[in-house]
Amino acid sequence: MKPTTFNDELDEFFADPMVGALIATLRDDPAADPRPLYRRLGRAGLLAPSWPSRYGGRESGQVAACRLLEAIGMAGCPDTLYVTTMQVVGTVLVEHADEALKDRLLPELAAGNRFASVLFSEFDAGSDLVGMAVEGVAEPGGGWRVSGRKTWSVHTPFADDALCAFRVATGNEHVYDGFALGLLPLDAEGVRINALPTLGAEAFHEVELTDVLIPPENLVGEPGAAWPIISGSISSERTGFDYLSRAYRWLTLADESGLDARETAPLWDRYHAARFHAYEVAERTDVFGREDADAALVKLVCSELAQRCAYLVADRLQSPRDALDVSIREAPGLTMSAGASEVLIDLVATALPATALDG
Ligand SMILES: Cc1cc2nc3c(=O)[nH]c(=O)nc-3n(C[C@H](O)[C@H](O)[C@H](O)COP(=O)(O)OP(=O)(O)OC[C@H]3O[C@@H](n4cnc5c(N)ncnc54)[C@H](O)[C@@H]3O)c2cc1C
Repeated sequence: MKPTTFNDELDEFFADPMVGALIATLRDDPAADPRPLYRRLGRAGLLAPSWPSRYGGRESGQVAACRLLEAIGMAGCPDTLYVTTMQVVGTVLVEHADEALKDRLLPELAAGNRFASVLFSEFDAGSDLVGMAVEGVAEPGGGWRVSGRKTWSVHTPFADDALCAFRVATGNEHVYDGFALGLLPLDAEGVRINALPTLGAEAFHEVELTDVLIPPENLVGEPGAAWPIISGSISSERTGFDYLSRAYRWLTLADESGLDARETAPLWDRYHAARFHAYEVAERTDVFGREDADAALVKLVCSELAQRCAYLVADRLQSPRDALDVSIREAPGLTMSAGASEVLIDLVATALPATALDG
């Protein structure tokens, strides 16, 4: 009988032995190229569950998108390229690009034919992107010539385009004025990608930009007024499921290694509570739209939990095994990627209405 729901199709996809063989190669080498897996997901029509059908999506909402991310992570596949391409860049395009850019690019992303990375962070501007220094100069024929250095970009060599945030002169004084956003073709003249080795399995990249042309048809939002898109885009990444699948894998490793259940049981309880909360926020997003504070809280809870699980296995398990090694090396970045914990706490705290605790 043919599967009828998105969940059924997803289960059937991951049960396919050919997919299993592909996943096994990715599990063995976390730095391996994950694009063949995503292409298969794209061909199966599973890669963009929440997008409009006009752009290759299924209009099935945020819960389905979270289910997909969870399935990718639980299978042990690298999820970063999915997060940057579909969750961050794809969502920004769906919500803010003009129709021509959407029609040109979104179906390609949904099919797994093209991939995208994110160029927001700089050495002196990560949590505080207001400090970014990469600048764009208006090109007489249209578009912007962008120069400077971006960093901490992941899976960049697998991407075709990058969503690049940069500064433009507007003459306005306000701290949030003067930001622009555009899709930068990574094979354009003037782009240099250098790998930055890290403790983690995935390398970071520094991207040097020298007079790189972002053509006018690739701009997203109004140049000079793109700050709300830039700051809001990070919320679309904060579903929690990339962290939950890590917590699950590391707790399972602890159990399989015979760690006392009194140590793992409280963390399993937290895992189930965090997962319930993350799906509940996804459901709310489908009904009411995305709330920055909701997304920040989900990311905070899930990433802090995943980090605790990583440190538990690192602290208690004796024999160095691959999964253990990965957990130790990945742990510090979990509470930095997609927003440092302190920044998230700030976001949640300031979202409380001043009257919330009255009377
Ligand atoms: C795995 C991973 C993948 C990433 N991928 C990308 C990517 O693809 N593209 C991209 O552009 N960037 C990426 N980043 C960068 C990431 O967004 C930044 O690392 C993050 O925003 C933190 O910025 P920072 O490194 O400048 O650290 P900082 O913001 O300088 O933080 C340093 C320390 O200060 C603390 N801190 C910061 N602000 C406050 C505050 N207001 N109050 C109290 N304490 C504070 C932090 O918690 C941290 O301990 C990635 C990072 C990681 C770890």
